[in-house]
Amino acid sequence: MPAFRNRLYRDDAVVLRNQKLGEADRIVTLLTRRHGRVRAVARGVRRTSSKFGARLEPFGHVDLQLVEGRSLHSISQAESIRLYGGRITGHYGRYTAASAIAETAERLTPIEHEPAQTLFQLTLGALRALAAGEHTPGLILDAYLLRAMGSAGWAPALTECAVCGEPGRYGAFSVPAGGCVCPHCRPAGSARPSPASLELMIALTNGDWKAADASETSTRREVSGLVAAHLQWHLERELRSLPLVDRAMEQA
Ligand SMILES: [Zn+2]
Repeated sequence: MPAFRNRLYRDDAVVLRNQKLGEADRIVTLLTRRHGRVRAVARGVRRTSSKFGARLEPFGHVDLQLVEGRSLHSISQAESIRLYGGRITGHYGRYTAASAIAETAERLTPIEHEPAQTLFQLTLGALRALAAGEHTPGLILDAYLLRAMGSAGWAPALTECAVCGEPGRYGAFSVPAGGCVCPHCRPAGSARPSPASLELMIALTNGDWKAADASETSTRREVSGLVAAHLQWHLERELRSLPLVDRAMEQA
């Protein structure tokens, strides 16, 4: 599509990841507000004199000017809106949570340049909360994962049966079925999480931080396991369907 080549555009973005490219350059993976996930080259940023480089460190919120290229886009200007630096990287718990958030944001946007505004807002909000130390990093991460799965259309069912849709609180949880399941629909091998764990997942989904902050460590641990299993199952299913998506787009 030659008409679009070298077009300039502006957007703000969260920096998800950095990779070295050659002697002085980097490939920066960004989650932009309006253009979805974008991988872009930042030239000369690894020279010590580059002010540009510090602005493109992971987890920062930056305002960018980008140039469309044949395969990769490139960054021609970068202004920091907010850089979290040591407020995230200087704390082990915050750093691991931020890394998991960035990785999830990348995996939830398998197709570049496809707008993902809700996910952008969630990612920015989670990194801001981590940097501010508002809650335990693990809780911020699980709240993010639950809502990010919601934005992808596969939030676990928590207040209704995942299979028949009957509203209610059910004690069985099945990842392949899509969350809580009623006694009639419950598949063999469903987990039996504690009622407190289901309440914590509901609180995290709804942003009820008063309830979430008051939860017990053992409950948080059980919730992290359920959320991770649910995310993993869907990501793997998503990955398997991806080559089909690419093929369909080529044919279109
Ligand atoms: Zn049911």
